[in-house]
Amino acid sequence: MNMNFKCKLPIPAEVKSEYPVSEELGKVIAERNEKIAEIIRGDNDRLMLIIGPCSADNEDSVIDYICRLREVQEKVNDKILIVPRIYTNKPRTTGKGYKGMLHQPDPSQKPDMYKGIVAIRKMHLRAIQETGFTCADEMLYPENHRYLNDLLGYVAVGARSVENQQHRLTASGLNVPVGMKNPVSGSLPVLMNSIEAAQSGHTFLYRGWEVVTEGNPLAHAILRGYENHHSQSMPNYHYENLQLLDQFYEAKGFSNPACIIDTNHCNSGKRPFEQPRIVKEVLSSRRYDDRIRKLVKGFMIESYIEDGNQKVDEHVYGKSITDPCLGWVKTEQMIMDIADRL
Ligand code: PEP
Ligand code: MN
Repeated sequence: MNMNFKCKLPIPAEVKSEYPVSEELGKVIAERNEKIAEIIRGDNDRLMLIIGPCSADNEDSVIDYICRLREVQEKVNDKILIVPRIYTNKPRTTGKGYKGMLHQPDPSQKPDMYKGIVAIRKMHLRAIQETGFTCADEMLYPENHRYLNDLLGYVAVGARSVENQQHRLTASGLNVPVGMKNPVSGSLPVLMNSIEAAQSGHTFLYRGWEVVTEGNPLAHAILRGYENHHSQSMPNYHYENLQLLDQFYEAKGFSNPACIIDTNHCNSGKRPFEQPRIVKEVLSSRRYDDRIRKLVKGFMIESYIEDGNQKVDEHVYGKSITDPCLGWVKTEQMIMDIADRL
């Protein structure tokens, strides 16, 4: 192999014993995660907002942002459940560029995987300790999931990974909701296949073990828009798209039919200020049709402290270094506006 095995890294159990979850915090996590699961199961009709920066590039600004979300959560408790995005691994279309905190705990320095593993665990732990929020992360590398599995409340499988067997099989063995994104091509049959795979039980090889899973009934769809054959962004949040997804779900008969609308990426064409408008449109589709209201459980929104994005070397505090985000002032206004409309 043309691969330099540079250094052996600690296994998840070792990192967990160094940065453990106390018994008390374990209870907070279990109670909180049950609230998230209730929404996907349809046992609670609060709207879920999975919201935060495209990439969690800096612990201080991410925690600052999440503390602001905590204050807003108190104001909208009866109608909305907030699940912050702490995205520590970033898929890149060509594999180049910033790959997230797991690879580069300091975005302006070279990759350091050991420091990265510790940094992402500490950041997720700190978020729970300081706010009580368990958060969402993308499972980009299934074999790394166990560094965080006891901390997360929601997991997403990205548009570039959702056709991959190991992602689907690993999703079948998680006990939190897993949002499967539609692939970049937009194919709903591929999306349905991924949900079917994740909801089914499997035997496979995982981290050197033969493992057996029972299937994850909380696996569900995330619609994130798609790219046409000319690389143009096309939306899939309109009423007709939601109706079609509902029909696919009905034909399949899966457990817990559920959908989250990702308002950025190809749905906004990465124009982050379109997100509040997209949310309004979907809320009106939900109001118009009770089946759509039951299907659409919430939104995934890219938001941070500052509007827009910047290059890695610009160092503006709280500004995204990957996809452009909605800044804090507009975010707070949007959440309050959503609550008014519910
Ligand atoms: C993201 O959520 O930031 C992301 C990379 O999403 P997708 O997989 O939909 O491109
Ligand atoms: Mn993004």
